[in-house]
Amino acid sequence: MKRVYDFREGQASMNQLLGGKGANLAEMTNLGLPVPTGFTITTSACMEYLEKAQGLTTALMQEINAAICRLEERTGKGFGDSKNLLLVSVRSGARVSMPGMMDTILNLGLNDQTVESFAEKTSLAFAYDCYRRLLQMFADVVYGISPQYFASEIEELEMTYHKDLLDFNQKEFAELITRFKKIYTDNGQIFPQEPVDQLTEAVQSVFKSWNNHRAQVYRRLHKIPNDWGTAVNVQEMVFGNSGANSGTGVAFTRNPATGEAKVYGEFLSNAQGEDIVAGIRTPEKISELADSMPKVYQEFTEVCKRLEAHYLDMQDIEFTVENGKLYLLQTRTGKRTAKATVKIVVDLVREGVISKEEGLMRVKPELLNQLLHPVFSPKALKVVDILAKGLPASPGAATGKVVFTATRAKELTELGEKVILVRQETSPEDIEGMVLSQAIVTSRGGLTSHAAVVARGLGTCCVVGCGDLQVDEQKGEFHVHGKTYTEGQAISVNGNTGELYLGIIETELMEVDETFYTLMTWADEVSQLGVCANAETVKDLTTALQFGAKGVGLARTEHMFFASERLLEMRRMILAETPEEKQQALATLLSYQQQDFYDMFAITKEKSLIVRLLDPPMHEFLPQTEKDIIEVADSLAKPVTKVKEMIATLHETNPMLGHRGCRLGITEPGIYQMQAEAIIRSCIALTKAGISVKPKIMIPLIGGVAELVATKTIIVERINELFAELNSEIPYEIGTMIEIPRACLIADKLAEHVDFFSFGTNDLTQLTYGYSRDDVAKFMPEYIEKHILPHDPFQTVDEEGVGELMRIAVEKGRQTNPSLSIGVCGEVGGDPDSIQVFQKIKVDYVSCSPYRIPLARLSVAQAAI
Ligand code: ADP
Ligand code: MG
Ligand code: MG
Repeated sequence: MKRVYDFREGQASMNQLLGGKGANLAEMTNLGLPVPTGFTITTSACMEYLEKAQGLTTALMQEINAAICRLEERTGKGFGDSKNLLLVSVRSGARVSMPGMMDTILNLGLNDQTVESFAEKTSLAFAYDCYRRLLQMFADVVYGISPQYFASEIEELEMTYHKDLLDFNQKEFAELITRFKKIYTDNGQIFPQEPVDQLTEAVQSVFKSWNNHRAQVYRRLHKIPNDWGTAVNVQEMVFGNSGANSGTGVAFTRNPATGEAKVYGEFLSNAQGEDIVAGIRTPEKISELADSMPKVYQEFTEVCKRLEAHYLDMQDIEFTVENGKLYLLQTRTGKRTAKATVKIVVDLVREGVISKEEGLMRVKPELLNQLLHPVFSPKALKVVDILAKGLPASPGAATGKVVFTATRAKELTELGEKVILVRQETSPEDIEGMVLSQAIVTSRGGLTSHAAVVARGLGTCCVVGCGDLQVDEQKGEFHVHGKTYTEGQAISVNGNTGELYLGIIETELMEVDETFYTLMTWADEVSQLGVCANAETVKDLTTALQFGAKGVGLARTEHMFFASERLLEMRRMILAETPEEKQQALATLLSYQQQDFYDMFAITKEKSLIVRLLDPPMHEFLPQTEKDIIEVADSLAKPVTKVKEMIATLHETNPMLGHRGCRLGITEPGIYQMQAEAIIRSCIALTKAGISVKPKIMIPLIGGVAELVATKTIIVERINELFAELNSEIPYEIGTMIEIPRACLIADKLAEHVDFFSFGTNDLTQLTYGYSRDDVAKFMPEYIEKHILPHDPFQTVDEEGVGELMRIAVEKGRQTNPSLSIGVCGEVGGDPDSIQVFQKIKVDYVSCSPYRIPLARLSVAQAAI
């Protein structure tokens, strides 16, 4: 087994073995880009080490030593050679990037002796700056000694000598190093002076860091397998901290927040890599390099273009400038917001870099949900004052209670609170708290700080560098303009503008831009399944059409009976004691329903609208509490005892399997007749007004042919009477829900009597498994944890069982009725994985809630590609 690869030997496709960072360093090396030379120790070497847990093997040590020899040869420098010193960085790099999860050591190779000769060749301040950084990082990474101890010593000495660290003289630096080494001994450790010992210790620590707590949390969160391991990159140092003509930068080839096609990032002069990410000093914008280092800037923008053209995607690049010379230290596909994802994909297709299909496949459907994240209502914003303003690092509008630590975020969230994590800056230890927070706010750091990068990855609203805030995490308070606020303070965070406000501000839906619509149009071009909405209110119908629904696959009429005055009429009808009383209640309901349907069809017009007749059990409409019962009796002018008696009669042991759907339609024909009449009357009125509509009436819960025929007859007879009475006719269709397993098996016979089928996957799943939908929560989590089910079948369709029943129904239905239209309504209609199954089964369309429409449109496109 080969355990060590020079950068020259690798390539991007070897990322499993070399880790993402190593593979791309190799790729860039082979592209001829300026990458400091180095080598990569493989992820398999890491796993080998972790399994044995007995130090580095001789085989590995031999390969490392040989690689160092080659490195020395190529650089003309020597490891530990005081005349021409080779310093390296030791960098972890797993297969996928895990921002800040693993550790990096810079300037490795320095010791008490070589720092002096190094100082003679360079400068005192520079050499000791490198050495003290090495001591700090090494302590942190290898021995877990807190960086805080070292920071305090620096602060103390700066105070004692009244000068900045970089102005220290030889004696003062010596004092600092002595103090640093004391921190080591206080912690029972010694800093190894021998460069090779430093390297082996560092490599082992990076290996071990694969199993540290925060790495494990991150892996669990992102479903990354534990046996991947991390590679270790050993690379010649270049020095961004060697003066004003040097520095370190992080940049994206396009704006990761908006997607704008312009290089975007930050640069910190006279600094080493860690400085910029830690957000210790506020960096300058990359565009400012155009003035301060025009040649470097030009070269860098060219590199960006080249890397994009090579990788066919937006890149996230780390680089360093040493005395005016550019070096690339990392490239990877950049994380981005949902908004930027769509813009970048659409731009790349337009630029001819990728195909439309490739573009469509690159956008995860769930991402569109993020894009449709709410924003603060502009009206509500007008009347509040801005509390503070920082940099908008990740978009969104979030509200919640302030917490200052990840632990408190966890505790309060468990109590059901929405929290906002407010800190000076975040670090990898905070990851658990960050995941749970509605928003993340930091007082320091830039757009590439830890908080910003992680938040964008999570799709969490984030504001960084909010300098107006003084955060005291220990005391659990923050100060703004002289006022103090403590934990639990409600605030609102605007990730689009960087503004913070006191209190909870109302939100509304975000405006989407042109690129979103373009992507949706491309999706429709390739899809084979249509996307309809489940909607019945004017608001939902309008939203659904705005989001591009082809029609309405399911309008649930029962939702219209729950408004107060209607509920009373419904109750009057159910509790009627004479036919006249019942007739009267139905007549009132008819007038309500007629208006409802008129409004609905007036919105959908020539688009398809399927109205499902009343579905739930009667008792759902009955009063439950004593108070309610008395009120109902009162308004219906009936004795309380009578009402109670009726309720008792209507009681069902298992209502979801009881007197509902078409069963009710048959035993109480007046209800379905009333609904059919309301539909037909409103549609005739609309047609006369010049809007021709073709209503589709759907019967729920059919399990047999005779049942279907009986229900249909009830409806059709009423419709025919109406046509005669009104002396006008309109076209209409009648269809049935397919939601009882038996219906699937006799679908050929049912299809002879209807124009369309619509799978009710909720009931079909419930009845196929025999799982009560309302009670699954009791066992489902354990079933999934124990792998008894691969996933919750109410969220993603069960392909093997429910899917098979659906397949049978589609096949049989089309056998006897080739023009049968077939759809899917129910939760899973908008689920990307389920849509893959429906594409195979070859239904005609899926129907889902309005906000899921864009996601479903993209999913059906992906299923077709
Ligand atoms: P992370 O994965 O946390 O980004 P890296 O291994 O990329 O860690 O290192 C962080 C930073 O350290 C880099 O962005 C770069 O600025 C600096 N760095 C790493 N290796 C070198 C090197 N050989 N020369 C100069 N700077 C380096
Ligand atoms: Mg990096
Ligand atoms: Mg149903």
